[in-house]
Amino acid sequence: MPFVTDTRTFVVVGANLAGGRAAETLRQEGFDGRIVLIGDEPDRPYERPPLSKELLRGQETPLFLRDASFYDVFDLRLGTRVTKIDPSGSVTLAHGEEIAFDACLLATGGRPRTLDIRSARYLRTLRDALDLREALREKPHVVVIGAGFIGAEVAASARTMGCDVTMLEMLDVPLSRVLGPELGRAYADIHRDHGVDLRLGYDVSTHEFAPDDVIVVGVGILPNVELAADAGIECDNGILVDEFCRTSAPKVFAAGDVARPRGGTRVEHFQNAQNQGAAAAKAMLGSGEPFHEVPWFWSDQYDVNLQILGHPAGEGIVRGSLDGRDFIAFYVDGPHLVAATAMNRGKDIAIARRLIERRVEVDPKRLLDEDVALRSLLR
Ligand SMILES: Cc1cc2nc3c(=O)[nH]c(=O)nc-3n(C[C@H](O)[C@H](O)[C@H](O)COP(=O)(O)OP(=O)(O)OC[C@H]3O[C@@H](n4cnc5c(N)ncnc54)[C@H](O)[C@@H]3O)c2cc1C
Repeated sequence: MPFVTDTRTFVVVGANLAGGRAAETLRQEGFDGRIVLIGDEPDRPYERPPLSKELLRGQETPLFLRDASFYDVFDLRLGTRVTKIDPSGSVTLAHGEEIAFDACLLATGGRPRTLDIRSARYLRTLRDALDLREALREKPHVVVIGAGFIGAEVAASARTMGCDVTMLEMLDVPLSRVLGPELGRAYADIHRDHGVDLRLGYDVSTHEFAPDDVIVVGVGILPNVELAADAGIECDNGILVDEFCRTSAPKVFAAGDVARPRGGTRVEHFQNAQNQGAAAAKAMLGSGEPFHEVPWFWSDQYDVNLQILGHPAGEGIVRGSLDGRDFIAFYVDGPHLVAATAMNRGKDIAIARRLIERRVEVDPKRLLDEDVALRSLLR
C-alpha cells in the first residue's frame, strides 16, 4: 500500500476470531491506515471449533482464517502480550513498547476456568489441542470433568479414537439450564450409548484418579477483562458494550467472547465472535450499524449435530423424535418464537432463525405438526 491516505492507527488486542475478523473488515471497508493486530498466542488467527473435533481426532481440517501472506498489509504482532491500556489512546506491550491509537478493539476472549487438580489439562488453544492429541494417541483412560459442550466433544472424540472415557458432571442432568431436563437427558444418553461412563450429580473432589489417567477439565471460561478493568473501563462478567460495540471509554471497543451487551447475555460462540468483530470494525470507522443477532451455536458429537439458536431456557416444545435424535425444540414467548434447539435438523434451524428474525407470529400446533412444512410458516 504505497499511498496511504488515512493517518489513523487502529489497535486490535487479541489476534484470534473476533480480532482477526475485525482487522480484515477494516481493510475490506477501505481503511488504509495502520492496523496493529496483537495476540499473545504464537499462531495467526485460527478457528477453535476443530480443536475438540476433527483436529483432536487427527483429521484434516481447515484451521486458519487466512493465509500467512494475507497479513502482509497489517502490523501483526504474535506472541506479544498487551499489559496495559490507557483508554485515552495507547497500549503498552510486555516488552515495554507503547503504541498510540485512534481507536482500539479489545477482543481478548476468555480462558478456561481451572480446578485444583494436579496434571489436569484444559482445551482452549491450538497448542492445548496438539498436546492433548498426542496424549490420546496411546489410547489412555480419559477422565473428562464437566459435561458441557467442550467436555462432551472431547469425550466423543476420545471415544471415537478408541479411548475408555469417564465423564464426571456435577449436575444431575447435563446442560439442564440450557436444554431443560428432557433434552438434557437425551444429550446424556448419546454418551452412554457410545460407551462413556457418565457419572451425574458427581462430586469431583471425591474422585480417585489413576496415575495414568488423562484428565481434561471443561468447566467453562472466564472472560479476559483484566486489561479493561484495570483501565477503569466498565466490566461486569465481560466488558460492557452498547449495540455499536462501544465500551464506557470513547476510543475503546470490545467484541467476541469477552464482550457483554449492556443488559444482555455474554455469548461465547463462534458466529457471534466473528460477526461482532466485523461489526466493531465498522463502528470504529464510524459506519457501524447496531449489532443485534440471534446467537447461534453448534456442537458435533459422534453422529449427532446439535444446534442452538437464541437463548433457550427450560423446556421447549418438540417437533420430531427425541429418541430418534431427530428433532427441533421450540421456545415461544407469546405468539413469537424466541429460541430453538435441534438435533440433526440443521435445515429446520435455518428456518427457525428466519421466524425469529422476522418476528413471525407462530401457532404452536402448526409448529409441532410434521405435516406442516416449517417453511410454510414463513409466509
Ligand atoms: C475447543 C473449542 C471448541 C469450540 N467449538 C465451538 C463450536 O463448535 N461452535 C461454536 O459456536 N463455538 C465453539 N467454540 C467457541 C469459539 O471458538 C469462541 O467463541 C471464539 O473463539 C471466540 O473468539 P474471540 O476472538 O472472541 O476469543 P478467543 O478465540 O479467545 O481469542 C482471544 C485472543 O486474545 C488473546 N489475548 C487475550 N489477552 C491478550 C492480551 N492481553 N494481549 C494479547 N493477546 C491477548 C488470547 O490469547 C486469544 O488468542 C469453541 C471453543 C473451543 C475452545
